[in-house]
Amino acid sequence: MEKQKIAIIGGGIAGLTFSIALDPEKFECHIFEKKENFGEVGAAISVFPNALSVLKELGMMEDILKTAGELKKIILKTAKGKTMSITEPKGEFPILCIHRADLHAVLLKHANAKLYENHGLSSIEELPSNKMKLNFENGESKEFDVVVGADGIHSAVRKYVINDGAPIFRGYNIWRGVIKTDFAIGHGSETMGKNQRVGIVPIKDGVYGWWATCNEELMQDDEPEGTRNKLMRLFAGWHHPIPMFMEKTEVIIKNSLSDRIPTKGWSKNNAVLIGDAAHPTTPNLGQGGCTAIEGAYLLAKCIEKYGTTKTAYDRYESLHFDRAKEINQESLRLGKLGQLSNPILIALRNLVFFLTPSSVSVKLLSKYFDRRVTKIEV
Ligand SMILES: Cc1cc2nc3c(=O)[nH]c(=O)nc-3n(C[C@H](O)[C@H](O)[C@H](O)COP(=O)(O)OP(=O)(O)OC[C@H]3O[C@@H](n4cnc5c(N)ncnc54)[C@H](O)[C@@H]3O)c2cc1C
Repeated sequence: MEKQKIAIIGGGIAGLTFSIALDPEKFECHIFEKKENFGEVGAAISVFPNALSVLKELGMMEDILKTAGELKKIILKTAKGKTMSITEPKGEFPILCIHRADLHAVLLKHANAKLYENHGLSSIEELPSNKMKLNFENGESKEFDVVVGADGIHSAVRKYVINDGAPIFRGYNIWRGVIKTDFAIGHGSETMGKNQRVGIVPIKDGVYGWWATCNEELMQDDEPEGTRNKLMRLFAGWHHPIPMFMEKTEVIIKNSLSDRIPTKGWSKNNAVLIGDAAHPTTPNLGQGGCTAIEGAYLLAKCIEKYGTTKTAYDRYESLHFDRAKEINQESLRLGKLGQLSNPILIALRNLVFFLTPSSVSVKLLSKYFDRRVTKIEV
């Protein structure tokens, strides 16, 4: 039987994982990426057990472990460095921190697809034959049996499937960087101040990823002060090594944090959404990429079982929607808590963290980390 041809729009975490999870004997994947190459920049990304179990099932664990570090302990601190809580998650899988470019390189190495760079999707048409016609920004058009929208939070495929406008900016921006140190911190941390937060995660061999947030306008310009000077001013007096990291990091990138209201209806005709295109979230739980991996795996297994049918797309959505919605909402809530500006509410928040036993934090987190989509009967 002729293999069905699947177009994956977007060569990020979701699109690449989907191509790896799908049986290459039955399906032929083509990944279209709008950028000039399939490389990734960015800073650190945390890969939690729920995603790691999928990456292991797909044969990528060994490659991931070569460049990732383990997050054994997470300490919540005040700006002055006082410990509010310590969480030490323990389970079958570790929590890993890895440079985004390294994770991407592993996914690319394992991708089962023909890759097309410089192919930004501009529009989709459904043909009487049931095939999907894809029109690209470079003037090319191609026909496929199925189109999987893995093109991120500003997804062009989502526009065709749901058409719910622009993402919602949540009122704070984030700066990120990676730095090599000659000292060991030995744990990951999140430090909470007023309107501002900083996270630090160990990658490997003295390399750390850090992020910092501040309540600001959407993509507020750091000029004329300059990013480094601005961060040094905003985080002056915060505990070691925060100011030093900001001063010494060579490349600092900035994003605005947005998401969308969780909305059902992730497919239309033979177009179906995965990853941030389906369920974007703010990164306060570090779960956007992890749930993208979960969802990509589930869609692949549903298509293998039910074919490229509405039954497959609906089953995938029914298995993944509530999960993605809960992460979106909890992450949004944590972001509001972390970015508080009212001193009384900040004092209350910190008190709650001081009083929450580690066992409770571990239990709360394990709700998100313990899911094993590889064990779900699709
Ligand atoms: C600051 C920050 C920190 C984060 N930290 C974590 C973390 O620690 N752990 C975690 O799990 N998640 C984290 N996330 C979330 C995670 O980055 C995303 O959920 C994840 O990247 C989603 O993967 P994706 O493949 O769906 O989309 P993307 O990574 O956005 O990839 C989409 C791809 O599609 C391409 N594309 C876009 N439009 C088109 C088009 N029209 N045609 C063709 N190609 C197109 C893009 O160029 C891109 O390559 C974080 C997010 C942010 C912003």
